Amino acid sequence: MTDRYAVFGHPIAHSKSPLIHASFAQQTGQDLVYEAILAPLDGFVDSIRQFQTNGGKGANITIPFKEQAFSLCKQRTPRAELAGAVNTLVFADNAITGDNTDGAGLIADLTHNLGFALADKHVLLLGAGGAARGVIGPLLECSPASLVIANRTANRAHDLAAHFQHQGFHTVSACGLGELNAPFDLIINATAASLGGELPPISSQVFKSHALAYDMMYGKDITPFMKLAQRHGAHIADGLGMLVEQAAEAFYLWRGVRPATASVIAALRAA
Ligand code: NDP
Repeated sequence: MTDRYAVFGHPIAHSKSPLIHASFAQQTGQDLVYEAILAPLDGFVDSIRQFQTNGGKGANITIPFKEQAFSLCKQRTPRAELAGAVNTLVFADNAITGDNTDGAGLIADLTHNLGFALADKHVLLLGAGGAARGVIGPLLECSPASLVIANRTANRAHDLAAHFQHQGFHTVSACGLGELNAPFDLIINATAASLGGELPPISSQVFKSHALAYDMMYGKDITPFMKLAQRHGAHIADGLGMLVEQAAEAFYLWRGVRPATASVIAALRAA
């Protein structure tokens, strides 16, 4: 019987995940279907239970349910535990295990696809929401010289930095967006500003010449953040590679087969 998987979110119509997983399944010869399911804002857990009861084997979770998914799972992987958010569910024997593949996706895109070595680099992470939470642990595990989390609401950044310092990571610190005045090797925009075509209010001094400016947002146009970075001599990248890489990591968890990603990224870009 064909195995069922799905991504749950609200909204969900825009999701590229069904396309990506269909492409992985075809490439690896796996017999599965993957659909996008709009979960009601007040009915996420019921939607997941229903899917599991009807034979679902696993799921991805996106905005705004990653923290509810974390609470739902009795079993969680260490990286999901560290992130405090879950984006991948594995169903087996009536149990649900929660994982978070966002960080692995970002690191794979940075290191394998973009050739950026994180060790000893000064890294700036803009944002303190769900996407930022998922990538901080994996970034710190790559031994950057420093990681500064900067957020519009500075307290949220300070809380996140304190959480990771408490886990033994002493190179992480936090500040408000207006306090930034030093240059960084890697600047990651994990704010939702680009979604609304806005620029996070940051000084252009953060862009060291030849730095990499990475916007987690993806779309056909370059974002105001990427434009600013480019004007100040930085290289730019969007989040499409991260999206495909986090999906590949989830696919591997479910099927035990790691799909190739380069052709999928290229096909999505061409489309
Ligand atoms: P959240 O809603 O959880 O967090 C939003 C963050 O953005 C908060 O830190 C918020 O600050 C900040 N923010 C919102 N608007 C602005 C603004 N105008 N200026 C400055 N800061 C702002 O969203 P997520 O963390 O889930 O998503 C963030 C981005 O990452 C989105 O663009 C999303 O599409 C992308 N993403 C990409 C993925 C990929 O695979 N490529 C995976 C996951 C997310 P405050 O705390 O002050 O409200």
